[in-house]
Amino acid sequence: MSFLKGLFGDANVAALKKARPIVAAVNALEPDFKALSDSALRAKTSEFKGRLAAGETLEGLAAEAFAAVREASRRTLGQRHFDVQLIGGMILHNGDIAEMRTGEGKTLVATLPAYLNALSGKGVHVVTVNDYLSRRDASWMGQIYHALGLTVGVLNHESSFIYDPSHVPEELKQEEEEAQDKEGSFKVMHDFLKPCTRKEAYAADITYGTNNEYGFDYLRDNLEYESANLRQRLPQDGGYNFAIVDEIDSILIDEARTPLIISAPVADAEALYGRFAAIARTMVKDEDFTVDEKHKQIVMTDAGIEKAQDALGIENIYTDAGIKMVHHLETAVRAKAIFERDKDYVVKDGAVVIVDEFTGRLQPGRRWSEGLHQAIEAKEDVAVQQESRTFASITFQNYFRLYGKLAGMTGTAATSSEEFYKVYGLNTVAVPTNNPAQRLDLDDLILQTENGKMRAIAKRVRELHEKGQPVLIGTVSVEKNELLGAYFKQEGIPHEVLNAKNHEREGEIIAQAGRKGAVTIATNMAGRGVDIKLGGNPGTPEEYEDVKSLGGLFVLGTERHEARRIDNQLRGRSGRQGDPGATQFYVSLEDSLMRVFASDVIKRVMGTFNIPEDEPIFNSMITRALEKAQTRIEEINFDARKHVLSYDDVLNIQRQSIYARRRALLTGGESALTTELERLTVADESFAAEIAKKKEQLGDAFVPTVRRILLQGIDFLWVEHLEAMEYLRSSVNLRAYGQRDPLVEYKKEGLKLFQNMEETYASHVRSLIPNIVSTPGAQTSSPQQRSVTKAVASITASSDTPIKKEYGRNDKVTISNGAETKEMKYKKAEQLLSEGWRIVG
Ligand code: ADP
Ligand code: MG
Repeated sequence: MSFLKGLFGDANVAALKKARPIVAAVNALEPDFKALSDSALRAKTSEFKGRLAAGETLEGLAAEAFAAVREASRRTLGQRHFDVQLIGGMILHNGDIAEMRTGEGKTLVATLPAYLNALSGKGVHVVTVNDYLSRRDASWMGQIYHALGLTVGVLNHESSFIYDPSHVPEELKQEEEEAQDKEGSFKVMHDFLKPCTRKEAYAADITYGTNNEYGFDYLRDNLEYESANLRQRLPQDGGYNFAIVDEIDSILIDEARTPLIISAPVADAEALYGRFAAIARTMVKDEDFTVDEKHKQIVMTDAGIEKAQDALGIENIYTDAGIKMVHHLETAVRAKAIFERDKDYVVKDGAVVIVDEFTGRLQPGRRWSEGLHQAIEAKEDVAVQQESRTFASITFQNYFRLYGKLAGMTGTAATSSEEFYKVYGLNTVAVPTNNPAQRLDLDDLILQTENGKMRAIAKRVRELHEKGQPVLIGTVSVEKNELLGAYFKQEGIPHEVLNAKNHEREGEIIAQAGRKGAVTIATNMAGRGVDIKLGGNPGTPEEYEDVKSLGGLFVLGTERHEARRIDNQLRGRSGRQGDPGATQFYVSLEDSLMRVFASDVIKRVMGTFNIPEDEPIFNSMITRALEKAQTRIEEINFDARKHVLSYDDVLNIQRQSIYARRRALLTGGESALTTELERLTVADESFAAEIAKKKEQLGDAFVPTVRRILLQGIDFLWVEHLEAMEYLRSSVNLRAYGQRDPLVEYKKEGLKLFQNMEETYASHVRSLIPNIVSTPGAQTSSPQQRSVTKAVASITASSDTPIKKEYGRNDKVTISNGAETKEMKYKKAEQLLSEGWRIVG
């Protein structure tokens, strides 16, 4: 262990040494840059661009570019990048992970490599954990980029913006800018953000957005039928040039277990979920099924299977009903036994919404796959959404691997540095703090029962509150949050409760969590990304000193999390920029971590004591056992993510090849179409003749019409293929019983399926082309294909239509397929719309 640490330490020292010269270089340039007028400073950007074009490198320009950014920041925000921030910036530019503690100013750090890399004219993407933070960071940092003449875009869910202070009246602007300098760390200056199209946001020099938005846009773009509709830049225009991922561990580790999936309902959904939910309700734990808490799985017992067979009125579920029924049964029982309401999900407005297990954030729109989400809907008796088909999917791992250069920053990467290296090839470099850290991390307090723990916490918080020291209490779930709130209420302790529900308001509350006497209860990461300043924000120097003398922010953890990293994130809220502060975790023997992983040892130890339930004890052995348990769970979770990834890797190769072909067709004009047709024509002269004939017949309409047919064919078959791959995946897992490695089987069979798809595609195209007629909408395609095309149109339309309108049957609409535009009544247009035409006016 110490050997490894030593190695890591050496590598860290070396990486820091490599980045350090930037500090002296930038400092030396400072007087020159300070002397520049505002317009001369701005002119630096075009100078740098010119020098790049003339052959200089980004590395060669780094010092001057950093100096320009520092100067622009000093002038606009009144913040001069600290030396350690320059180092952090260089690490990001090198494509590594900069581990910098909370409050070290990572938002500002990112401006350095973002500016430098944007000079190439290729896009730079800054990735944030939620929409609010992308708006905040763009409107906050936008001042710097703007002063340097670069444009900034923001991607939000169903809206996009461009940073543009010019449309704010001059008097107001002054006011807003002043407010922003004070409160920009949590307040979004909406007036500076002007709504724009998705494409414009991507065309900006620097774009801020969440991982979900980037990923979904990528998938949606790969379902488009017209190149004019593409949102992201093409790869050759810098589409995936450089991404800086803020809180990279949250995004690339915590969220990496669930892939992004675009799905749409299909007509023939079955109503089995309700039936199986009812059956699951009758199942008794440890009698009809057993639970494997570690892997979040259940296993049906013979008794349970029998019960289900009786309920279904069949003899043998395996032979009579087939694997699909078994899957339904197991999923329904899993939904009942493993997934807890208000912990794993909440029911909101009649829908089941996933709660991210690490962060406590709600994940609207995301659904568990393989019928689990429907099973939970049935369990909760809310409307079961139609069975959907997957149209496109990708893991975050594979999305972010698209980038030519990837970098990240976070306060907590070290415990996951192995994963970052193995999966992404990213090195983690710990950057020293600007001021010496003073935070005190106290040993865990251990209580025997949950109830005793709650009482002990309430007692402690009351003491702290009465003394005036602000305290932030971190919980693992929304439910715990509310429970604790109730205890506090009973005790008459005034407090704020934060659930992951409204990031913007959370930001404002958390920003004030450092006020004297403040008590704030929050789920793990509620209000994250927002800095807690002692004395409030903005507070007076007296308020700051007052809270400082009381010991700074006290962070109280109410349970150890599965991953040490998440505990460290919570701790990191305290002790920013060398402030004093303290952290401590309260744990009980009834905590799930203890129950599942550490119970025996600890119970034995605790048995030898004889103490009241709300009396805490310290015991280093228990703390050690806990940390060991955490390490083990981290390993299990890493394995789970590797597992998801190894399967997605198989699909990834196929996806890349399909998407590349799609993109070439979409953007490559007639020559790309010809190439594709030639590929399909190999050794088939009669087909070649058919094509020539059609070309003559259709004239100008040939290229757009045939292109559309090819694209629709690819999509249709790809959707079918994705489904086949999903089935394959569950079936290879069953084969594992036959001593075969499921992954190897998956690869082998997956390749066969892919080849089949290719053949089907070719024959599909061959049969379609001779039947093309010149009126669009009259193409021959199967009803299944039409329903796919229709669903695709609805998917691609949803992300970027500013105004959605309901049309009456007799309303006049203008529709277009990219090549042609027509005006007609809506009822007449419906058929064309289902073929992929779109309403344009
Ligand atoms: P992190 O993301 O690293 O936790 P933030 O980017 O939220 O930190 O910044 C924390 C606080 O530090 C913010 O209020 C920010 O304005 C302030 N800050 C960052 N860099 C500087 C600087 N160079 N000078 C003064 N204040 C800074
Ligand atoms: Mg931050």
